[in-house]
Amino acid sequence: MSHVLEIKNITKKFGDFTAVELVSFNVEDGGFFSILGGSGCGKTTLLRVIAGFEKETEGELLIRGESMKGIPPEKRAVNIVFQNLALFPMMNVQKNVAFGLQRQKLPAKEVNTRVTEMLERVGLVGFEKKKVDDLSGGQRQRVAIARSLVLRPSILLLDEPLGALDRKLREHMKVELKILQKEIGTTFIYITHDQSEALVMSDKVAVMNEGRFEQLDTPKNLYKNPKTSFVAGFVGESNEFDVLSYADGKLTTKNGCNLVKPDLDFQPKKLFMRPEAFILNPSEGLHDIERMDMKIKAILFDGSNTKICAIINQSNDEVLISLPQNAQFEDLQEGDDLKVGIHRDDLKCYQD
Ligand code: ATP
Repeated sequence: MSHVLEIKNITKKFGDFTAVELVSFNVEDGGFFSILGGSGCGKTTLLRVIAGFEKETEGELLIRGESMKGIPPEKRAVNIVFQNLALFPMMNVQKNVAFGLQRQKLPAKEVNTRVTEMLERVGLVGFEKKKVDDLSGGQRQRVAIARSLVLRPSILLLDEPLGALDRKLREHMKVELKILQKEIGTTFIYITHDQSEALVMSDKVAVMNEGRFEQLDTPKNLYKNPKTSFVAGFVGESNEFDVLSYADGKLTTKNGCNLVKPDLDFQPKKLFMRPEAFILNPSEGLHDIERMDMKIKAILFDGSNTKICAIINQSNDEVLISLPQNAQFEDLQEGDDLKVGIHRDDLKCYQD
C-alpha cells in the first residue's frame, strides 16, 4: 500500500518549549489513523503542522510523495474538521457544503452535482434547505464532514470532532464515522484524548506523550502489548503496582506481593495487570499461573459489566477484577475470600 503522508523527524518548538519532538510516521492511503494523547501532549500542534497552519522547526513532511516545504495550507491536499465545526449558522446545509467549491469558482452545475452526491453519501438528502442551527449535533457533524470531503482532499484531518457531543451521540457517531471512512476511502487522521474513540475507529493509533510518540500500533496490539508503562496505563484499564525487587525470576511489589515472572532481561519498576486477565478459582491443573488469595472489598455492577474490587491478602494491594459476561457472581459477597489466578504472560513489566 502506498503512503499518502510521510512524516520525517518533525519537531515543533514555540520559543524554548518543544511541543512536538522528532516524530516520524507514515500513513497508508485510505487508512484511519488516530493520534491519541492527553491534554497538552502536542496532538493539535502536529495536526496544524500537517495542515500547514504551523511551520515545523525541523524535519520534513510529504503528501503523496511531494515535500510540503513552503507550501501554504490552501495548496495542500488536506482539509480539517474542527471540534467546533466552524459551520456558517445562517446558511442552509446545501450552501454550507457548496461554499468551498464556489470559492474555487467551479461551474454551478458541477457544484450542484458534487454537493448532491456528497449529501447522499453522508445521509443528508432531504436536509438541503435546513439551516444548520436547526439540525441535531450528529447531523451538524455530518455537514462539517461533507463540507470538507466535497473538496476531495487526499487527507481529512479531524481535531476532536466528537468532543462537544453528549455521550450517547458520541457512541453512535464513532460507528458512523468508521463506516463512512471505509465507504468513502479518504484517509482520515483523527486526534483525540478518548482511547475508546481511537481504538474503535482506527486501523492504526499513535499514542502521544509530551510531544513524542510512545507507540504506533494497531488498536489490538496497543491494548494487548503496550510497549511502555505510559501506554499500559493510558490505554484501557489496568492495575498498576510499583515493583520493589526482581531476582531469580521472582518479583516483589512494593507492598510485598510475590509473583513469579521468569526471564526478564531488565530490572522492572512497574507491573501492570488488566482487570480481565484474572481468573477466579483457577483449577490446580493450570500451568504458569500465579495464584493470589484476596478478599472482596466491593462488587461493582454497572449494567453491562461486573467488576470486583479486591484486596490481595499478602500485600494489601487493591485490584480491580473484571468478571466474564456470563459469570455466575450472585453467590459473591463483600468480605468473601477469593482465590484468583493470573497467567505469567499477563504480568506486564516495565523498566520506567
Ligand atoms: P488539547 O487536547 O488540550 O488540545 P493538545 O495535545 O492538542 O492538547 P497542543 O495544543 O498541541 O496540545 O499543545 C501542546 C503544547 O504546546 C501545550 O503545552 C501548549 O501550551 C503549547 N502550545 C501550543 N500552541 C502554542 C503557541 N502558539 N505558542 C506557545 N505554546 C503553544
